[in-house]
Amino acid sequence: MKPKNNKPTNQSRLKSLIFITILALIGLAFYAAYSQTSALEKVTITRVIEQANNGEVSKLIVEGEKVEVVKKGDTEPSEYAIRDVNVSFADQGLVNKDVELDFQEQSDSGGLWISVLSGLVLPIGILLVLVIMFRSAQGQGSQAMSFGKSKARLYGNEKDKVTFSDIAGNENAKEDLAEVVDFLRHPEKFKNVGAKIPKGVLLVGPPGTGKTMIARAVAGEAKVPFFSISGSEFVEMFVGVGASRVRDLFNRAKKNAPCIIFIDEIDAVGRKRGSGMGGGHDEREQTLNQILVEMDGFEQGQNVILLAATNRADVLDPALLRPGRFDRRVNVELPDRRDREEILKVHFKNKPVEKNVDLSAMAAKTAGSSGADLANIANESAIKAARRNSKTIANQDLVEAFEKVAIGPARKNNIMTDKEKELTAYHEAGHALVGHLMPESDMVHKVTIVSRGHTGGVTWFIPPEDQHYHSIKWYKDVLARILGGRIAEKIIYGPEDVTTGAGSDLQKAVDYARDMVIKQGMGSKDLRDMVFHSDEGMMFDRMVHDRPYSEETAQRIDKEVAQLVSEAAKRAEAVIAANLKYLEALKETLIKKETVEADEVVEIFKNAKLPASAKLD
Ligand code: ADP
Repeated sequence: MKPKNNKPTNQSRLKSLIFITILALIGLAFYAAYSQTSALEKVTITRVIEQANNGEVSKLIVEGEKVEVVKKGDTEPSEYAIRDVNVSFADQGLVNKDVELDFQEQSDSGGLWISVLSGLVLPIGILLVLVIMFRSAQGQGSQAMSFGKSKARLYGNEKDKVTFSDIAGNENAKEDLAEVVDFLRHPEKFKNVGAKIPKGVLLVGPPGTGKTMIARAVAGEAKVPFFSISGSEFVEMFVGVGASRVRDLFNRAKKNAPCIIFIDEIDAVGRKRGSGMGGGHDEREQTLNQILVEMDGFEQGQNVILLAATNRADVLDPALLRPGRFDRRVNVELPDRRDREEILKVHFKNKPVEKNVDLSAMAAKTAGSSGADLANIANESAIKAARRNSKTIANQDLVEAFEKVAIGPARKNNIMTDKEKELTAYHEAGHALVGHLMPESDMVHKVTIVSRGHTGGVTWFIPPEDQHYHSIKWYKDVLARILGGRIAEKIIYGPEDVTTGAGSDLQKAVDYARDMVIKQGMGSKDLRDMVFHSDEGMMFDRMVHDRPYSEETAQRIDKEVAQLVSEAAKRAEAVIAANLKYLEALKETLIKKETVEADEVVEIFKNAKLPASAKLD
């Protein structure tokens, strides 16, 4: 959605004209200052003396350090040189006494120009350039010097309108917010029974889940104007403007009441105060204070409701969450399978799809995707169809779009040597084999050695259904599967010939293991059922402030992580060593076909077995 009216006004056109004129004047001034000398040819002083001694020169006109040369037979100088004023012409080697030396008083014309320039024109020019730069940085074409004005965009016209029916799924959020719509539409109903209308509602959920959209739908349903601003815009560029932007925003909103103010990414201004170091956060704190002051200043009946979005409600300042401020909370979750299908339907509503397009299968595959991801997949599939010059979208477009969004576009022309191809095939077959045999691991969906994004190949696993909770067994099986690639390389090529291809796998394995020990209470013995992390404060604060555990515990955590990773590597090794035949078979098929789908993988691994040594106790 674009902010309204950014058209150049007459006033801004006039300003551009003045700007161009000043620039032209500066250019002219420079030209005038230097044109006099630049018409003459510049030579060295030694050359001048040489010509003079040779009798080619009739007169030298000396003006300070500048020496102009009038040749014999000429009346005007044709060359000039710069001399050292401390050395006389005789000392410079001039012996020809016939040359007339015409010492002139140093005229100041060039210098005068320059001093006029630097004293007057240049500063004015620079000032003008700065003003224009500031204004364009503000993005507000015609409001000169409006730093303190809020940049909230107002959406009120029919064209931009979003209603609850445009939002698929999110039933709970819609239900919770239906009340807010009612407050806005019939405030007197609530006033009559002495109910206080809430001032602030916090929408909490991961990015792309439709928080902005829901907020706009509340305004759309209630038929009231909608002011939208992002938390980071309050404190953007100039120190000291945050608080005045807040004041301005609330004033505008009050004038337009009943209305909704939507603050996206409220955590940018609303983090806990006092958690920063030094005075670096003053600006943010002042902005936050101003928001609190304005919220408290709302009188009942003013009917301006604030909606704010964040994905980190835990870092918000408690003062923001007190009664009378953002005291209501609506959770906006990632969509489950049914909702994903609904969202896909919404985004394919106006797109011409072929009969074979299977949105339900796509919904099943996209566990963990947000509404924004799904919207992106829908759009990408339309682009794919258009690029095929097709008028309709086929299921293949949808599948390719999903793969592109999930792991980046396929790089078919990324040339691999045969050796690299073989190595990648073993590596991916290793992931697939271990993943296939580990009882808790998700199912193999597809294996490919076509490189995508930054990866050499991909083995894709898809959970059978939306899983919200994971067991220790699941974590351990996934760890083994992540290491399966490197272990396959090690078994086939030997421990010293493994490659950097597994670098990101190893990082991922350590991250998983650390997550188990630190966040999930899945360490062993007395680390079990304990958590050792703190999400409070920003990254930097966490680094500087004390860790919530001792150095000794830190060492034990490191040890546990290493143990988990090495246990997983051993299990992966046991699986691959016991099923080498099947690893080879998938590798062969991969080299032949490059991409192998789930059914074929299952067929190849039909007789593979999990050895006892790879089982968990
Ligand atoms: P957030 O504010 O939570 O980051 P947005 O509201 O900006 O997310 O959502 C981004 C886009 O994702 C929306 O413009 C919309 O196209 C799509 N989207 C997200 N959730 C849904 C949904 N439930 N139904 C339909 N579209 C959705």
